[in-house]
Amino acid sequence: MMKPMRLWHNLNQFRRNRVPGQLVIQMTDWCNARCPQCGMNTTQCFERHRLSLAQMKSAIDGAVARRIQAVSFTGGEPLLHLDELLTMLDYAGGSRIPYLRTGTNGFVFRHADRPNFEERMHRLAARLAATSLRNFWISIDSADPVTHENMRGFPGVVAGIERALPIFHAHGLFPSANLGINRNLGGQDSIPRLPRRHSSAQREDFIMALHQGLDRFFKRVADLGFTIANVCYPMSLDEDAPGDNLQAVYGATSVDTVVSFADHEKALLFETLARVIRAHRSRLRIFAPLCSLYALKQQFTHGKCGYACRGGIDFFFVDAAQGHAFPCGYRGHEDLGPFSTADQGVGADHLPCYQCEWECFRDPSELTGPIRELLHQPMGLLRRMRQDREFFRLWWQDLRYYRACGFFDGRRPPDLEKLGRFAAPEWHREPAPQTVPQTAVSRGNVCVQTVGSN
Ligand code: SF4
Ligand code: SF4
Repeated sequence: MMKPMRLWHNLNQFRRNRVPGQLVIQMTDWCNARCPQCGMNTTQCFERHRLSLAQMKSAIDGAVARRIQAVSFTGGEPLLHLDELLTMLDYAGGSRIPYLRTGTNGFVFRHADRPNFEERMHRLAARLAATSLRNFWISIDSADPVTHENMRGFPGVVAGIERALPIFHAHGLFPSANLGINRNLGGQDSIPRLPRRHSSAQREDFIMALHQGLDRFFKRVADLGFTIANVCYPMSLDEDAPGDNLQAVYGATSVDTVVSFADHEKALLFETLARVIRAHRSRLRIFAPLCSLYALKQQFTHGKCGYACRGGIDFFFVDAAQGHAFPCGYRGHEDLGPFSTADQGVGADHLPCYQCEWECFRDPSELTGPIRELLHQPMGLLRRMRQDREFFRLWWQDLRYYRACGFFDGRRPPDLEKLGRFAAPEWHREPAPQTVPQTAVSRGNVCVQTVGSN
């Protein structure tokens, strides 16, 4: 249950045509993993950075001044600098920021066969649990352990995660499995490339591979002992693509085929993902909202855009290289300077942005859009509701589901009885989307067609 003060604050934000804010602090770009889907992997040659405690404190102070509600510490690999991370979690918790998140690539779970493994896990879990950390993610790239371990370069790490999870639970921490969508998610090369001009058989094969891979993935992480899961949509930015104005300041992108999905593939991906998530919602607390997946599918199928991203308005990213704020990790052309300085952001007259599918910013933008619009453009909301009933049906379902999930409080176990109400009666065999027309796909700031106003 949300505390009355927090509820009051959130309502006030909506009244000001804002949404509860979020800050992602990239505390380091050092990493020890080999993920092919990421420009920060250990094989990449570039000058590495980490933020000082003073820089991070200053960013957190800036967040407090803007009454930001959620701060994430990301990397690189945050646990490479565990002492600094814990210090910052304490600092942010002491500053009354209620939603604190961080995570790991899992390197700490290696060597599960060594005699001191359990003791090491107890120590780590106890230290994290002593802070105000709310959500702790562990990246998992594939349903197949060997594939995941090869991608990360951490042999044996899945067995370590399986052993560590009950220890974390005993300390009151319920980590989430974080899947970055990639072509190995169901096993090595499990997701084929779908050519732009494809036959219906190729299309069916692509959907089936996605469906089976995602299904295996959610089953696997639940069997490992995870109770929460999240999905990062593919961040295959093509900075040379016409209409794109992106320059990644956050290096978690790659042009590697393992993580590159063409727009026509994304339309099918978002639809299939929604279908599989529905089937697993009664077993796992899965954050990815159906309304957001639906909006993204619409964007890539028909060019209709939902609620614009709040990056640069309510959500910000602070980079490890300079400690500067950006509207997000991908609008690297828009350096806003240190986050502690006053009144940053792109302002109310900004162009609505739909340039990427970074779920950290896109999902909450869709989820909060209707509430903001209700208070500021009720006629626009009514128009949107008339034009797109499906979005609002899913949005309402998401809100009910989020409530049943305890709003993904990673310090509490799941209430399986409540989750059980979301059991899908059967596999949702909705008609698959039609082949995406070339002209309908939207990139860049402007959608072919928007639903209502934003
Ligand atoms: S995805 Fe994460 S763990 Fe993998 S190389 Fe990039 S920063 Fe490191
Ligand atoms: S959609 Fe959001 S996260 Fe993506 S580029 Fe635009 S502001 Fe950034």
